[in-house]
Amino acid sequence: MADYNVIVIGAGVGGLGVASLLSKQGRKVLLLEQSERVGGCCSTFEKNGYYFDLGASIIEDAQVIDWCFQRLGTSLRSEVELISPDPIFSVMLKDGKKMKYPLSVEASAAEIGKISPEDVKGWYDFCKYMKEFNDAAVSGFFVKPANTFSDIFKMFAETPKMLKYMSLFNGSYQNALKKYFKSDTIRESLSFQAFYAGLPPELLPGLYAVIPYSEHEGIYYSKGGMIAIPAALQRLGEKMGLTVKLNTLVKRLIIKDRRAMGVVTADGTEITADLVVSDINAKKLYLELVGEENLSGMVRTGVKSYECSMSTPTIYLGVDYEPPLESHHTLATIPMEEMNNYWWDYYEAARYPAEQFGIISWTSHSDPGLAPKGHNVIILTLGPGPYKLDGTTWENEKAGLMDRIIKYYSQRYVPGLAEHVQVAEFSTPADFAKRLLSPEGAIYALRQDVPHSICFRPAAKSKSIKGLYLVGASTHPGGGIPVVISSAMNAADLIEKYEK
Ligand SMILES: Cc1cc2nc3c(=O)[nH]c(=O)nc-3n(C[C@H](O)[C@H](O)[C@H](O)COP(=O)(O)OP(=O)(O)OC[C@H]3O[C@@H](n4cnc5c(N)ncnc54)[C@H](O)[C@@H]3O)c2cc1C
Repeated sequence: MADYNVIVIGAGVGGLGVASLLSKQGRKVLLLEQSERVGGCCSTFEKNGYYFDLGASIIEDAQVIDWCFQRLGTSLRSEVELISPDPIFSVMLKDGKKMKYPLSVEASAAEIGKISPEDVKGWYDFCKYMKEFNDAAVSGFFVKPANTFSDIFKMFAETPKMLKYMSLFNGSYQNALKKYFKSDTIRESLSFQAFYAGLPPELLPGLYAVIPYSEHEGIYYSKGGMIAIPAALQRLGEKMGLTVKLNTLVKRLIIKDRRAMGVVTADGTEITADLVVSDINAKKLYLELVGEENLSGMVRTGVKSYECSMSTPTIYLGVDYEPPLESHHTLATIPMEEMNNYWWDYYEAARYPAEQFGIISWTSHSDPGLAPKGHNVIILTLGPGPYKLDGTTWENEKAGLMDRIIKYYSQRYVPGLAEHVQVAEFSTPADFAKRLLSPEGAIYALRQDVPHSICFRPAAKSKSIKGLYLVGASTHPGGGIPVVISSAMNAADLIEKYEK
């Protein structure tokens, strides 16, 4: 008899979600996490009294996360204190203008009207169209498995409304914005969200243009930092018998006759299980933990062809003043065309300029408990950064580059910043790769374009290894906290169906 019914590898929100749901099904589940804390990209760490979110800094589509908590016999709001930032975000445009997007669609229309009156109607049309798409996608697309072509047919058969939005799958994010907005300034203010899904506006599929709308359905920060969400999943799972082991690296899967039989950890311990669920990058899972020798030639080629998503250099700052900002998130933007050019001129060319754009997260504005009294936490989530730099290394560049970026932000976006830094940590793509063992420092595991989507993304029920299931950003529907939690519900349903 195996040691466990299920071993889950990785305690990201995907791993914790599925581990808790499977524990609720009455299975004996062991969750192994290589780092010292749960949450993966949705986590919070402490340094000198400041609490920094490692990656994610906000949630949308909270109802999807709530469905998972409901399955666990409770609700998201009973387990996690949610704070609703309003405005959703402020924008600092390249030309020095500022604007903001309040939570209410109408109040945002008024802000748009101050800059471009002719785009107010476009904003309402955009919101109407994207609301319909969002409603259909959340129930018809996110929480449905997409393992096979027949799953896809079923998806559309059960939610035929989705067919109406096929152009969003074929077209680009950029074209979706161009269809509704005439002013370059308004387009610029809504462009950075393309990187929330990991690609520039011209390369990202149009369906992600739902993001600037869906934020208006509700956007939340969890008190105590983003780790509050995975910590709640862990607490609920443990009440149902789940065992979580931190600082435990899984080196290999035990595979016999193309069936997963358990895992081998870094210290050589073999732990057996009837099923293995992976929450780690699927490319790494198949090529290293399963091993190429256990894959057919075709699967090997297929897995190798997957491209990792972009990485995002991040600077975590503890400061001893109140920064002159207006909201939880401020987007420091550049025009849409420049964002596209940045991708080719810097990201693809393996270069990284100090003149950065990105998200300025002032998380202690939402939760002052994240910093000592009178101090604040600011996180600069910068423009996409290549894993390897041309002609140099991140290690060589790190200290000087961080200083130059902080000075640039201080001069351009957050006056006084450079003079008030008490704690500063720069996480480069190389650091991120080491910290979460994420290949190439990828923040959403794999790219999120059409060749990496739906049934082209690695399947939740492995097609090549029996008894192996996938959750997390590597599988359908992709990266993002609610989306990854959908994958956990999908995997739990598949396991309930196929593994009695
Ligand atoms: C900078 C950044 C900003 C983001 N912003 C947002 C946001 O604001 N809102 C939002 O919704 N989403 C955001 N996201 C995306 C979101 O955080 C992720 O998609 C989601 O948290 C991923 O969860 P996951 O379960 O797929 O995996 P991960 O969080 O990647 O967790 C995988 C876990 O597996 C562990 N692991 C890896 N290899 C092994 C091994 N061999 N053995 C044991 N353990 C292993 C890792 O340590 C990690 O803890 C952001 C991501 C990043 C990086």
